[in-house]
Amino acid sequence: MQYIPYNKEQFAWTQWGPKEIRKAYENSIAHKEKVYAAIKLVPDFDRTFQNTIAALERASYVESPQMHYVELLLEVSPRSDVRKAAKETLDEYSQKIVDIEYDEDLYHAVLACARKNEPLEGADKKLLEDALRAYRRMGFGLSTEDREELKDIIKQISKLSLEFSKNINDWQGYILVTREELEGLPESYITGLQKDNTGKYKITLQYPDSVPFIKNAESEQKRKELQTKLLQKGGAVNLDILGSLLRLRRMQARLLGYKNHVAYQAKPRTAKTAEHIEAFLTDLAKNVSPLAARDITVMCDLKRTSTGNPDAVLEYHDLSYYLNESEKQTCNVDHEKLRVYFPLEKVLDGMFAIYAKLFSVSFQKITDYPVWHDGVELYAIKNTEGEIIAYFFLDLYPRENKYGHAMAFPIVQGRLLEEGYLPPVSAMVANFPKPTSDTPTLLSHPELTTLFHEFGHIMHGTLTQAPYASQSGTSVARDFVEAPSQMFEHWMWDTESLRLVSEHYKTKEPLPDSDLKNLIKAKKHMIGYQTMRQIIFATFDYQIHTEEEGTPDAISTYNTLVKTYLRVQTPEGNLFPAGFGHLIGYSGGYYGYLWSEVYACDMFTRFAAEGLLNPETGGSYRLWILEKGSSMDELEEVRGFLGREPSNRAFLQEIGLDTIKPE
Ligand SMILES: [Zn+2]
Repeated sequence: MQYIPYNKEQFAWTQWGPKEIRKAYENSIAHKEKVYAAIKLVPDFDRTFQNTIAALERASYVESPQMHYVELLLEVSPRSDVRKAAKETLDEYSQKIVDIEYDEDLYHAVLACARKNEPLEGADKKLLEDALRAYRRMGFGLSTEDREELKDIIKQISKLSLEFSKNINDWQGYILVTREELEGLPESYITGLQKDNTGKYKITLQYPDSVPFIKNAESEQKRKELQTKLLQKGGAVNLDILGSLLRLRRMQARLLGYKNHVAYQAKPRTAKTAEHIEAFLTDLAKNVSPLAARDITVMCDLKRTSTGNPDAVLEYHDLSYYLNESEKQTCNVDHEKLRVYFPLEKVLDGMFAIYAKLFSVSFQKITDYPVWHDGVELYAIKNTEGEIIAYFFLDLYPRENKYGHAMAFPIVQGRLLEEGYLPPVSAMVANFPKPTSDTPTLLSHPELTTLFHEFGHIMHGTLTQAPYASQSGTSVARDFVEAPSQMFEHWMWDTESLRLVSEHYKTKEPLPDSDLKNLIKAKKHMIGYQTMRQIIFATFDYQIHTEEEGTPDAISTYNTLVKTYLRVQTPEGNLFPAGFGHLIGYSGGYYGYLWSEVYACDMFTRFAAEGLLNPETGGSYRLWILEKGSSMDELEEVRGFLGREPSNRAFLQEIGLDTIKPE
């Protein structure tokens, strides 16, 4: 396949100001309207899949990347005028695009084309089905009145979703601590902290500050103070927004004939029905409960012995701390101490070497193209012929007003054009500790695993060969999209792979064998508790999205689940749901994290048997999973790769439920 070459110009958007953002929006809309008008002009007797359905998909050729640039700039731009313009533009776009898509004539054009029953296969057949479903889900097929109501609901949902996410992003806060209150934290962490004018240390809510503190600070009072702040994220205003969103999503589902929002979401995904999801979560909760209860008891006992108080009660802000403490004591793994063996540069070299070997590609840093901030890097991916097939950005350090979690953003989605294949562009955004004057960025093992996970999304997005952008890369079912990335997390629990990404940042000595062994042995440490946390998030998301009437009380739903499954009280006045950003992107689909683990663990069995650095297995994985996107049914892809029906056996083993009979 020929790839279309890019030059600097294609990356000029990284420097956009408010004026360019505005122009991009106007151009995108104008282009789309022009293409739509042309499709409508085709007389019905001349309609074909190519001039109607494929043309409809191609109409987003200009708009899709341009709007992705704006979305990314909203999350990462260091300029407040750019973020402001991006937000305003996306607000306007989210409303305008609904007006454009609600086009009765276009709908009739699609129907007329479908009625011709052209013999279609594979990606083409799926594209037609997707187009018809999209129109059904817009309410074409309902009465005009219902359709208008639905249209209004969709607009409101878009607007409120943007608002909800922005409130989380903009949320800032910190606590102040003295030097004594930093007991338990390593020197390298302390030197990276900012101070206020009284000389106290600032622990912000950003990951590199807050996560090590919650896990390691001996001062219970300060951990509690920080945890309380973390649980205020998003603010009370987000609870109101969430209430409206839940009601609107329910109305949307009902208008379209679904019982609730989860049922609506599940239909086109691999789960298919809300009942499947409920059964999955209920069974899992039942089986994991005893394991989680055992872990909680261990944590509670540990608190009692270490505080010398036989009546001490395990609290919400203790969970991460005693999980970490028990890992230190029983597994001999101290994540803070191990950081010295994972300097970012070595990690990236090793990670690129692993992915290069598996997928027969190479990575090249591009230094003369523009980026949106000094700390951002751009890479090209080359195939064995040395041709550039894709690009990706790495934006790995926290900044004020930057997206606060780790995520891979699709920017340009691959698509087949007449001139050749359009190379995909993605960006990995994360928040790892910044290097200081004398220490490079040193990753913890959990951060390393996150990096591998996110890079899995980058590979899924960039190695795609799907013909249509709407089916390429990570545009797969929401309850499958995590699977390819979750699978790659397994590499960070493997001796040979860990060797490739580690060496002492000063002495260049390898990670000692004993540490390596202990680390790998600790993989399933408190797996019951850790799985239960995911079950709680998924069940929470499920329950608030299946409430039959009124506004679900999200806070008490969450509190009850934590109390029931972890036997721990959530802090008074917590606003957990207000800061749970996944309620937007995953809305009613958070179960997907656990659900796709089933596929991830199953797919990994082939690598476990054939070798984690086996290029043949990698090639087969690339062919069946990474290249296909959703141009094929996702379960067909898994069957193709495994050469058998998928099974949940490996997943059950992974979470310590080996005794349950797999299906
Ligand atoms: Zn992910």
